[in-house]
Amino acid sequence: MHLPELPELPRRLAGPAPGWAESTDVVVVGSGIAGLTAALHLREAGLHVTVVTKENIDDGSTRWAQGGIAAVLDPLDTPAAHARDTEVAGVGLCDPAAVRVLVEEGPARVRELMRVGAEFDRNPDGSLMLTREGGHHANRIVHAGGDATGAEVQRALHAAVRRDPWIRVVDHALVLDLLTDAAGRACGITLHVLGEGTEDGVGAVMARAVVLATGGMGQVFASTTNPVVSTGDGVALAIRAGAAVTDIEFVQFHPTALFLGGTGGRAQQPLVSEALRGEGAHLVDGDGKRFMVGQHELAELAPRDVVAKGIHRVMLATGTDHVHLDARHLGAAFLEQRFPTIVASCRAAGVDPTTEPIPVAPAAHYASGGVRTDLHGRTSIPGLYACGEVACTGVHGANRLASNSLLEGLVFAKRIAEHIAGGLPEHGEPAPVTERAWVLDPGVRPVLQRAMTRGAGVLRSAETLAATAATIVGLGATRGRPATASWEATNLVTVATALVAAATAREETRGCHWREDFPATRDEWLGHLFPALGDAGEPKLTWEA
Ligand SMILES: Cc1cc2nc3c(=O)[nH]c(=O)nc-3n(C[C@H](O)[C@H](O)[C@H](O)COP(=O)(O)OP(=O)(O)OC[C@H]3O[C@@H](n4cnc5c(N)ncnc54)[C@H](O)[C@@H]3O)c2cc1C
Repeated sequence: MHLPELPELPRRLAGPAPGWAESTDVVVVGSGIAGLTAALHLREAGLHVTVVTKENIDDGSTRWAQGGIAAVLDPLDTPAAHARDTEVAGVGLCDPAAVRVLVEEGPARVRELMRVGAEFDRNPDGSLMLTREGGHHANRIVHAGGDATGAEVQRALHAAVRRDPWIRVVDHALVLDLLTDAAGRACGITLHVLGEGTEDGVGAVMARAVVLATGGMGQVFASTTNPVVSTGDGVALAIRAGAAVTDIEFVQFHPTALFLGGTGGRAQQPLVSEALRGEGAHLVDGDGKRFMVGQHELAELAPRDVVAKGIHRVMLATGTDHVHLDARHLGAAFLEQRFPTIVASCRAAGVDPTTEPIPVAPAAHYASGGVRTDLHGRTSIPGLYACGEVACTGVHGANRLASNSLLEGLVFAKRIAEHIAGGLPEHGEPAPVTERAWVLDPGVRPVLQRAMTRGAGVLRSAETLAATAATIVGLGATRGRPATASWEATNLVTVATALVAAATAREETRGCHWREDFPATRDEWLGHLFPALGDAGEPKLTWEA
């Protein structure tokens, strides 16, 4: 396996020793759909739960989700059909058992979410309004407020968590590293809290189980739909702790983020949901020609990676940095009623989608891989669970089917809570920390993002990946002082290093991993790469067929 030269990385984030500690049954890291759903189910089991979250409770990706949640809720649809569409998108790397769990348990979890208080859009007869998105062959996407699904889900879960006095939420709390006992079992976390009184600065939350629900890592790229908190902290923590991480080379690029020109180191680009294409908007080049027709049987509704690459190729061929999405023929009244969020964000950027085509370009959108889990959300470290976008349950394989990610968070959060409720050991004592700790300078963030977008983004080759690796080696030498920006920058470089190692080794094109120098899907790559750090922090890669 070809592994480029990559820098040594810390096995621990440097920081002051914990100055305070508290204890709970289960600590959940992250407050999106995965973390809050897990917390609510854990409470149903009578456990004390502490949710810690990096900024404010609503600041993850969940509230930005527009399209909806995929689940078989139409009597004419079947779980087998949903599984088929999911596995086609995953190009041979989905775990069929995980997919079965997702599609079979999904409908009940969506109904539970409605009981928690989420209100989805309905037809005049009161039935749920179901729509279709790229890669789905049936109408199975529930949505809320037109294109404000995630905001409604986050609102409902947030309200439910606030109603329960036994769920403690600690915000502005950045989790640094995992604590394990002498037997190697997770027994808590270290974190930095911007708080008051005794709970301020670096501390520890001791717990009988730890649930990672830290979301995605889109901020590793210069152009992303992910919010600024999506810095891959959970994956980086897991890599440092020695938990199995896999499929990290499979990053889905959303083909149509609103093109805003260049962005700085902490930016999020508004998504122009594929639901708009689902309703009939056309992708056109500079001459107004529909370029996806003839490239794929579903044209603009082809899987995301196919559309992203179609756009990228037009951009390369024409020397432009964006194409256009033309929705004018759908009419102003329809657009304003069905897509209020998109219309508002376009107008805020000075584009009126009812009278002019929308400038769009691909942006990093979803991490299909992450911390490897089994069907109960267990990672390879006992007592450590992972759920939501940070996890790799095996449902997405080489590419995620649209609207399966909110569903994955719902389904596996419940499974984790059930597993934890089935039996928890007593609190463990943290073993002494012996690993070398240091951090990188925060100035590496924008440099890393640009290098990742250029060389390890929508289209990759040995040459572009080597150039990105060389940049990362340079960044690895710039040490910094412990602070929020340095911890995040170190996490970003850790995740980027793992991604570049795996993307370089995987000499094929599959799902959302597109190698220009290896354009075919190759049977010998039907397996998973596991990036890791050796004892001294040296990047390693192992293969599992
Ligand atoms: C613009 C956009 C549109 C999308 N549309 C859809 C859609 O229509 N349907 C769909 O299924 N999916 C969609 N997705 C994907 C989906 O929203 C996410 O995959 C999903 O919300 C992830 O949920 P999560 O709970 O895993 O993470 P998040 O909702 O991202 O929450 C992660 C949480 O972890 C916290 N956190 C991170 N690091 C730390 C740390 N070190 N310490 C403490 N806390 C930390 C964050 O602050 C946050 O609270 C979309 C994503 C985006 C960005």
